[in-house]
Amino acid sequence: MLRVAVVGSGPSGVYAAQALVGQTAVPDVRVHILDRLPCPYGLVRYGVAPDHEKIKSLQNSLRAVLEDDRIDFLGNVEVGRAGLGPAKLLELYHAVVYCVGAARDRKLGVPGEDLPGSHSATDFVSWYSAHPDAPPDAFALGARSAVVIGVGNVAVDVARILARGADELRGTDVPERALAALAASQVRDVHMVGRRGPSGAKFTTKELRELGALPSADVMVDPSDLALETAYADPAAVPAIVRRNLTVVREWAARPLQGRPRRIHVRFFLRPVELLERDGRVGGVRFERTEPDGTGGVRGTGAYQDIEAQLVLRAVGYRGVPTEGLPFDADRGVVPNVAGRVVRDGRFSPGEYVAGWIKRGPNGVIGTNRPCAKETVNSLLEDAAALVGRPLAADPEAELRALGQQPVRWRGWLAIEEAEAALGRALGRPPVKIPDWAGLLGAARETGSGGPGEAGH
Ligand code: NAP
Repeated sequence: MLRVAVVGSGPSGVYAAQALVGQTAVPDVRVHILDRLPCPYGLVRYGVAPDHEKIKSLQNSLRAVLEDDRIDFLGNVEVGRAGLGPAKLLELYHAVVYCVGAARDRKLGVPGEDLPGSHSATDFVSWYSAHPDAPPDAFALGARSAVVIGVGNVAVDVARILARGADELRGTDVPERALAALAASQVRDVHMVGRRGPSGAKFTTKELRELGALPSADVMVDPSDLALETAYADPAAVPAIVRRNLTVVREWAARPLQGRPRRIHVRFFLRPVELLERDGRVGGVRFERTEPDGTGGVRGTGAYQDIEAQLVLRAVGYRGVPTEGLPFDADRGVVPNVAGRVVRDGRFSPGEYVAGWIKRGPNGVIGTNRPCAKETVNSLLEDAAALVGRPLAADPEAELRALGQQPVRWRGWLAIEEAEAALGRALGRPPVKIPDWAGLLGAARETGSGGPGEAGH
């Protein structure tokens, strides 16, 4: 039998497990999916915006994989803690596939970045997604004006959530405290700002269009921001997605205001140079006007513009975090690898693999992780003959418990789901997420089977 641990139960982890049990080259495979959280699905649960129900429903297909008899979900297991490092995992499993994503936000590197009121978009996303590490009261939303720095899909997500009325989110799984804060939100203006022109933006057209379709917000584009865009002169020279984005922002620039209660200002060619302080908190952002440099980038013009903001969300991308005991390329924020095989000191590290963002960096859509995980699993299967011969500890789960880990098994997770459904029923809402560790672990334990310390698939 080939025994494999997959670390991380987000899309890349689940797709890796699916590829492992779906192949025929090595017929007898058992997979343990370990996750630090008691809940599976990674960024599908804790990153995809609550109002993106269709993408969220992907959980149903991930669930079908995790219910396979050859796969065990073991949540609440933290790799890298209490003696459970990569070396220990190799004593328990023939192979380990790290699918740990890119958990940290990138920094802007400008003065004032750490002022109160300035947050990473990741923190905001974690808060409205009920991540148990995010304090439930992290965002009071007393700001009138918010600046979102960056023009990728995360920036679009957080701008949209800030601009939506709470009523529009009641039918989602947003936790109660976040919903109450959104209902009391004073935010009227949301500025989403890119340092390059619209042709250099990273958002996808479908996500961008949604901003223009919100019932409670007008979307505004300043025509002077578009005047610098060179792609207008020869739209045929740019990829179709860029052409579509250009069409959307051009339409918006010409659109009259509808008088809706909030406004989303989509801005371009503005590079953040400083977060401005006012009364000990962030009061605005100073931007330098940029212009195309002729080689696809931008250069500063020496002209500056301030945008008032009592809330700043930095949506400038994620970064991988090193796992102690695994090699790490700090420049790229990934584990060095070739086709998913971990490279340690210039050579392949037997039995160690990566998939997803920690393998290739934080890019692509959820579906990108399927071929990425498949490539990794193909590498693993090519190596399998050399890996299975290694003797292992008889019962890896017992070893995990001996190290002090208290795995939440699949039935524990189903109990959390049931508790969230019950919470929603009591509130007259669909299932509502439990936002704290005590609540999640308490719900998992209540089953009497499958919670920490209990067995059961
Ligand atoms: P991203 O797509 O890489 O966008 C990051 C943005 O930040 C870019 O506009 C980038 O501008 C800007 N930026 C970076 N450093 C900056 C700086 N120092 N100053 C100003 N701007 C800066 O990252 P993301 O939005 O975090 O998304 C990560 C991945 O998740 C993407 O693949 C995204 O598509 C995916 N995602 C998808 C969805 C969805 O499909 N609905 C939702 C969320 C996330 P430059 O281009 O100039 O560097």
